[in-house]
Amino acid sequence: RVVPGQVPALLFYSEEMNQRAKEHLRIESELRLALANKELLLYYQPKVSLRSGRIVGAEALLRWRHPVRGLVSPGVFIPVAEETGLIYELGNWVLEEACRQIAAWRDANLMMPPIAVNLSARQFDSHLPERVADVMARHHVHPEQLMLEITESLLVRGAENVIAIMNELVAMGLSLALDDFGTGYSSLAYLKKFPISTLKIDRAFVVGLPFEENDCAIARAIVTMAKQLRQEIVAEGVETIEQMGFLRELGCDQLQGYLFSQPIAAADFERMLREGKRLAVSGRQATLSL
Ligand code: C2E
Ligand code: MG
Ligand code: MG
Ligand code: MG
Repeated sequence: RVVPGQVPALLFYSEEMNQRAKEHLRIESELRLALANKELLLYYQPKVSLRSGRIVGAEALLRWRHPVRGLVSPGVFIPVAEETGLIYELGNWVLEEACRQIAAWRDANLMMPPIAVNLSARQFDSHLPERVADVMARHHVHPEQLMLEITESLLVRGAENVIAIMNELVAMGLSLALDDFGTGYSSLAYLKKFPISTLKIDRAFVVGLPFEENDCAIARAIVTMAKQLRQEIVAEGVETIEQMGFLRELGCDQLQGYLFSQPIAAADFERMLREGKRLAVSGRQATLSL
């Protein structure tokens, strides 16, 4: 079977590559069913402000409740969806579901912080602003309630139309965060060309804090630069008190990571906010508690 945009498995000589192609095909066809069978859901991971101790945002993260394999992580199926083009449908579903949830929370009179949605580079075409505007309008979602996370590969593509699309989204009142910052190949000077309000330091540079000199230097450089560009900084993948302490000293205010909370189901995230949970630090533990 030949799938558009994919090399036919027969062209591969090695058995290993053949296996990989088969695996991709399996995931692709199962993913189509998953969309139809409502096996997809969003988890939410809080972003915590060190200054206030409050939950100031959350990132929506896609999950696949597979009937046999259980909860499948996006690292497995997003790359396949990107390769096959299925990411359009998947991305639209994510936007729809995030806006539906934001509207449901609002209708229940809950004060929820902005929710960030991840976008793949492949979703970033000239119709994107229109698609986002349409979903927001149908659910009566205000732009302050939604953020978009994009990755550095998009900047490297650097085309004028990418900047134009970003400007359109910003003109709609949305804010853009640059995800996984530091892992791509864009030069720092490059950044100022793009209307980005938030930088997310990738976990790869957080993991070694404060013991790895190189990670410390990189984190410091990113935070310094972001401040000069008047961008917010979020550190992702914060797992230890020591990492938190170092980031606090750098002046990085918003942190996200297992130290505070894993990504959790919508109902659990809602309960966390209803109860007014805040950051509490004692000894080597940091928790979101009452
Ligand atoms: P990301 O956007 O950089 O999301 C952060 C990832 O780091 C999430 O993995 C999250 O669960 C994980 N994480 C958060 N805190 C910690 C920590 O303290 N330690 C460790 N080890 N990991 C932590 P997840 O949910 O598996 O998502 C992986 C990637 O898949 C995301 O990276 C994002 O690039 C992509 N993704 C997830 N949902 C979507 C989506 O709806 N659309 C698109 N296009 N991509 C998505
Ligand atoms: Mg993200
Ligand atoms: Mg990230
Ligand atoms: Mg990441």
